[in-house]
Amino acid sequence: MIIVLKEKPNKSQLESLLLWLEDKGLQVHISEGTSRIILGLVGDTATLDTDLISALDIVDNVKRVQEPYKNANRKFHPDDTVITIGNTSIGGGNLTLMAGPCSVETEEQIVAVAKAVKASGATMLRGGAFKPRTSPYAFQGLGDDGLRLLSLAKKETGLPIVTEIMDISQLPLFDDVDVIQVGARNIQNFNLLKVLGTQDKPVMIKRGMSTTYEEWLMSAEYVMAGGNKNVILCERGIRTFETYTRNTLDISAIPVLRRLTHLPIVVDPSHSAGDAALVAPLSNAAVGCGVDGLIIEVHNDPEHALCDGKQSLRPEAFDKLAKRLFALHQFIKAQED
Ligand code: PEP
Ligand code: MN
Repeated sequence: MIIVLKEKPNKSQLESLLLWLEDKGLQVHISEGTSRIILGLVGDTATLDTDLISALDIVDNVKRVQEPYKNANRKFHPDDTVITIGNTSIGGGNLTLMAGPCSVETEEQIVAVAKAVKASGATMLRGGAFKPRTSPYAFQGLGDDGLRLLSLAKKETGLPIVTEIMDISQLPLFDDVDVIQVGARNIQNFNLLKVLGTQDKPVMIKRGMSTTYEEWLMSAEYVMAGGNKNVILCERGIRTFETYTRNTLDISAIPVLRRLTHLPIVVDPSHSAGDAALVAPLSNAAVGCGVDGLIIEVHNDPEHALCDGKQSLRPEAFDKLAKRLFALHQFIKAQED
């Protein structure tokens, strides 16, 4: 971190700033120019409040030269994080497919979809029980009954479950859930993130509609700072000026996050596009960019789905896509070896 002081700073204020910084365990390098003094801080500045320092009378501006996230930062953890979930794992060169309906609707539906996606090579079952809907009049999910049906499908197929939590109060119901999803709308629900940091189930954080990479990684940092290092990041499209697609898949997120963090990266082409016909090409692109996993909406009767039928693949289409994605992934890996 670099602190640029105003011209002719008050001596005693400068001395107390220096003492305060040294008290925080930081080394301070002082450069005196012709008109300005610049302080270069060496050490862990992650917990320093830049706003607090900027507000001091003698300070002109403060610049971070290091990222404010530490646990999620590849610089401090060069190897990819691999998270084991049941018999499957995510990260470190695998391609993990998570698939299932937007919402759990009935036992028949979730069990049929779970069996189908498993047969196609998916190793995790997605399905929403608590649904964040724009309209309060839209289907809100089956709630705890949805979780019960997910557990039934897990028992039938052995597939681990990924499902969304919307509120801290729901956590006691998540005992049988394997990966807790934090949806786009809750990415900065810091109280929720803090609580998820105190338990050890993997947490998948979906990018918010207007979340920067740094904000996203800071949300991961909230969970990791609490002790839970099992965090997965999911790009699900951001809001841009384009309205033809539901959101705009930010494909750059994959190589950029790969550079910035060691955490596994997942892409959700279903919510990115909002259109079943776009799911396959966007999935191909994500695998081409080296993604660790895809989360894809699959429904056995999309025309009658209670939520997101338009973007849901039929099991047969998912089967075809999964085969191609595994082949593409193998091909790319062979080029890298
Ligand atoms: C979902 O995965 O069901 C969902 C609501 O996703 P998002 O939070 O990305 O909108
Ligand atoms: Mn959905």
